[in-house]
Amino acid sequence: MVAVLKPGVPQEKIDNLTEWFKTRNLEVRVIVGQYHTILGLIGDTSGIDVELLRSLDIVESVKRISEPFKSANRKFHPDDTVISIGGLKIGGGHFQFIAGPCSVESKEQILSIAQSVRAAGAGFLRGGAFKPRTSPYDFQGLKAEGIELLLEAKKLTGMPIVTEIMNANHLPLYEDVDVIQVGARNMQNFDLLKELGKTKKPILLKRGLANTLKELLMSAEYIMSEGNPNVMLCERGIRTFETYMRNTLDLAAVPLLKDLSHLPVVVDPSHATGIAKLVKPMAMAAVVAGADAVMIEVHNDPPRALSDGPQSVTPEAFEDIARHVQKIREALPAD
Ligand code: PEP
Ligand code: MN
Repeated sequence: MVAVLKPGVPQEKIDNLTEWFKTRNLEVRVIVGQYHTILGLIGDTSGIDVELLRSLDIVESVKRISEPFKSANRKFHPDDTVISIGGLKIGGGHFQFIAGPCSVESKEQILSIAQSVRAAGAGFLRGGAFKPRTSPYDFQGLKAEGIELLLEAKKLTGMPIVTEIMNANHLPLYEDVDVIQVGARNMQNFDLLKELGKTKKPILLKRGLANTLKELLMSAEYIMSEGNPNVMLCERGIRTFETYMRNTLDLAAVPLLKDLSHLPVVVDPSHATGIAKLVKPMAMAAVVAGADAVMIEVHNDPPRALSDGPQSVTPEAFEDIARHVQKIREALPAD
């Protein structure tokens, strides 16, 4: 980090600031120019509040040289993180489909969808039990019973399960859940992230509706800094001025995140578009962009789905999507 001081700052104030940096375990290199003095800070500056530093009356500008995220940063962990779950791997060239309904609705529904997506090549079964709905009058999920039903589907098919958590108090219910999803609305629920960091569960962290990639990486950092390295980042579309689609799929985020971070990147074309027929082209585009997994909402009767019917594809459509995505993957150049 570099701090450029205003012209004519008294030496005593420069010394005070330099001493303060030293108390934060930073080495300070002082460059005295004709007009400005520049302080070069060496060491872990992640604890320095840049805005606070900028607000000091002797400081003209501050520039971070290295990113404020450390654990998620590829610079400090050049190799891809590979997450192994129930014998399946995601990341480092290993690709998976995560498929299933938006919400677990009944035993028949989840068992039937699980069997069909499994037969079509999905590795993981998804399904919401605790649902974050925009309206309190909409279906809120089957909650604990929904998790029980997912576990039955896991037993029947052998598929590891992915389901969202909304409250850290519910963690005991997630003991046998393989991947805990943090939904877009909770991406910056820092207390929840910290609690998940104390577990060793793989976490699927979805990008918030209006969050930058840096904020997504900082949220991953919240989980990792507590000791849980098993984080997957999920691009699920962001809010823009576009209204034909539910969100705008930011596919450039995939190669950029993979550049910045070693964590696996998952793309969710269902929530990103909100339109079932866009799921196939966007799933194919996601693998070209480098996604390590694609998460797709599948429902046996989309018009009657209790949540996200318009973006849910049928099991037959999922089979077609999975086949095409695999063909695209085979056609990708190896290097
Ligand atoms: C979901 O996966 O069903 C969901 C609610 O996703 P998001 O948090 O991305 O809206
Ligand atoms: Mn959904």
